[in-house]
Amino acid sequence: MNIKITKQVIRDMTNHAKALKPIECCGYLAGQNGEITTQFEMTNVDNSFEHFSFDPKEQFQVVKDARNQGLELMAVYHSHPETPARLSEEDLRLLNDPNMIYIIVSLMNREADVKAYKIVKKSEEDVTIELVAIIEI
Ligand SMILES: [Zn+2]
Repeated sequence: MNIKITKQVIRDMTNHAKALKPIECCGYLAGQNGEITTQFEMTNVDNSFEHFSFDPKEQFQVVKDARNQGLELMAVYHSHPETPARLSEEDLRLLNDPNMIYIIVSLMNREADVKAYKIVKKSEEDVTIELVAIIEI
């Protein structure tokens, strides 16, 4: 499986990550017909180096805005300023929607490393992470 995502969104997402470094950035990506076309920057209310949380009010607004634009929320992205582009234990506790794609922008190296994952939940106990795509910048 692969995902379609516009170059502009990839740029916006990596720029957001760089602008907030060393704090983790986060946001939603939306699109239609299987292609991600639109980025929604979100506030990381944790304001942390190693985890993030959305502001529920802002989240509600984005859900509304996306719907009004005829877009579907397809992915949640966040950055790992100092660590690899892998979902952390902390991430897995919070990110558990099997219908979402989870994208991580790692800034650990000079070149940003962007990877997309899906959570596959066969049962409460049996949860695996699947690498969906390595996104070229
Ligand atoms: Zn993370």
